[in-house]
Amino acid sequence: MNSNAPTIALFWFRRDLRLDDNAGLYEALSSGLAVQPIFIFDQYILEKLEDKADKRVEFIHQSLVKIQHQLQALGSTLDVRYGTPEAVLEQLASAYNVKAVYANHDYEPYATQRDLQIADWLKSKGIDFKMFKDQVIFEKDEVLSNSGNPYTVFTPYSRKWKEHFRPELTEPFQTELHFQAFVKQTTLPIPTLENMGFLRTDAEFPPQDVKDELIKNYGEQRNFPAVPGTSRLSVHLRFGTVSIRSLVYKGINLSESWWNELIWREFYMQVLWHFPHVANSAFKKEYDHIAWHNNEIEFKAWCEGKTGYPIVDAGMRELNETGFMHNRVRMIVASFLVKHLLIDWRWGEAYFAKKLLDFDLSANNGGWQWAAGSGCDAAPYFRVFNPTLQTEKFDKYHQYIKKWVPEFGTNSYQKPIVQHEFARKRVLEVFKEALKPA
Ligand code: FAD
Repeated sequence: MNSNAPTIALFWFRRDLRLDDNAGLYEALSSGLAVQPIFIFDQYILEKLEDKADKRVEFIHQSLVKIQHQLQALGSTLDVRYGTPEAVLEQLASAYNVKAVYANHDYEPYATQRDLQIADWLKSKGIDFKMFKDQVIFEKDEVLSNSGNPYTVFTPYSRKWKEHFRPELTEPFQTELHFQAFVKQTTLPIPTLENMGFLRTDAEFPPQDVKDELIKNYGEQRNFPAVPGTSRLSVHLRFGTVSIRSLVYKGINLSESWWNELIWREFYMQVLWHFPHVANSAFKKEYDHIAWHNNEIEFKAWCEGKTGYPIVDAGMRELNETGFMHNRVRMIVASFLVKHLLIDWRWGEAYFAKKLLDFDLSANNGGWQWAAGSGCDAAPYFRVFNPTLQTEKFDKYHQYIKKWVPEFGTNSYQKPIVQHEFARKRVLEVFKEALKPA
């Protein structure tokens, strides 16, 4: 460390890749210290990604380039490095005279553990670690039942969420009033994707803004996968390229059903926070006793969208091609894997985790455990989605199916790999057996 250099604060971007309305960044910029923004491409996370053409890494990269341009215009720069968080922070602590590190909370188990270790290390160096709530309106223990327990059912959680809510909570953090506090520095290069062993995918990402009209009609249109009736903001919420405050503000003013979806997001985040065992096992322990068939050939057919159930195949092909799948279809394909094929929900969860652009541990795990019946507020095990009826209701004219399964309706389309009625009876027996009292 250069002790003659002025003391500064680092602002560490993680799931909050924006300069505007960013809680931790606002606190850093108004702390009186000059602020050097940083980002760490975490070697631990990147090394685990099998597919080196990962669209999410590209999304992060593009978002950093955008921030870099904004900082450049302010005479400042991002300092982006590749490595393990502890090694990079050590490098930065010797490159700058660091008084404090600012960041926003991240609630996933890996991130929580990492931050605890980093906090200890920084403390040993006499550096403060200051963390703020940014990616949610309510976090951790802020919405509890009257008896002080975390909620495990959505409806009472959302009721309490709304009781606690005050409009001030959506007011933006006006970072722009303090931009002069960024350290002035010439532009530093951002490591390229290739430098880190990744490839460009030239993927197209959904826009970051959403029309008010779409949100107003959300309640009527949200269930039809052929209609562009949902916001497609999930990837932006995942990486924090939009602020949750601005979206909740929209939801409150334009559509209660959309607002409720944003509350589902926080519901699942607090479930993971309070019950971290859900990351590896069923929320309801008895569901860990199901005798899964786990047939690898059938799993492959599901992954590739070749089950002979057109709505399932369309969804899986949409996922494989774009990294996105409509929520209604996510529910159908998840139910099909778990109930029709009797494949462990964790296999499906892991496949989604690899492919989804918006992959988020809490929402993905919540969605899968909901479909399996093993989650806290889940579909009862005896409700088995009928893909044909779901299609009649939500893709009556097969517009969605035809878009993703061009051979649908021709002789070359796959025959069903399992019969619906057989599968329905089988799953009821297997689940009943596993769930019967000991
Ligand atoms: P909109 O319908 O416009 O909703 C707005 C936002 O609300 C979303 O962007 C998302 O942040 C949040 N949201 C909506 N529905 C849910 C929900 N059921 N649970 C939690 N948050 C929700 N969502 C993810 O963000 N990441 C995942 O990894 C994920 N995995 C899922 C797996 C399964 C099996 C299921 C059934 C659902 C999963 N979802 C996941 C929830 C949901 O499908 C997506 O959030 C949604 O389809 C994203 O599209 P959108 O941005 O157009 O959402």
